[in-house]
Amino acid sequence: MTTRKSPNCARCVKGDCHAPSKAGQPPPMDKLAAFCPMKNLPGVIKKAVAEYARPEVKEFARLASKQEFECYERLPDGLRPKNPRILELIQFAQKCGYKKLGIAFCVGLRNEARTLTEILENNGFEVVSVCCKVGAVAKEDIGIKPEEKIAGPENWESMCNPIAQAEILNSEKVDLAVMLGLCIGHDTLFIQYCLRPMTVIAVKDRVTGHNPLATLYTSSTYYARLMGKAKKKPPPPF
Ligand code: SF4
Repeated sequence: MTTRKSPNCARCVKGDCHAPSKAGQPPPMDKLAAFCPMKNLPGVIKKAVAEYARPEVKEFARLASKQEFECYERLPDGLRPKNPRILELIQFAQKCGYKKLGIAFCVGLRNEARTLTEILENNGFEVVSVCCKVGAVAKEDIGIKPEEKIAGPENWESMCNPIAQAEILNSEKVDLAVMLGLCIGHDTLFIQYCLRPMTVIAVKDRVTGHNPLATLYTSSTYYARLMGKAKKKPPPPF
């Protein structure tokens, strides 16, 4: 029995799918890695690519790709990125003709939500926003024990309510929902229930200033413990 290798692009060294080649000449595909989905799942890829034939999907994908292109300036010494994500949000929403944006934010980022609202309004958008604690539902209602409340057993604590956040933005018919700093898991529920086009400005990471990649960038030093047993050497003491 032949067993198919699971897709593992993260371990690919050759990168045949994006190897340098001339326009109109796809990169050679004769020596794909054993785990390459182009080798093992061509039917899935073919079906996915067919989706771009739908006019609205094709147009959306074209605008996204154009946005990607415009994020670089071409200088004599090469490409240089130029646009931060917030500016990209504005530019992409304008490209799509969006008028009404909806921010779903974590209460811990209420100041950031206010600043983002001001920036977006100053750039001509109508902005609505919903905080994660909307509804003021007690955490006990989802089975949280008193000793599991951050505010302490003796205090009221509203649960995060990403389903209500999503449903409110659905009912407001926002052109684009923007996630700002929702916790892990709560963001999963929001994504599950949000029926509007959606993007993410930030994810919650309390320790790194909402930049989870900082942990990856320091995974050979300060966060070496996350690599598990394979990584025995402790980081240098500085
Ligand atoms: S699609 Fe294939 S070639 Fe491209 S990164 Fe994944 S494994 Fe590598």
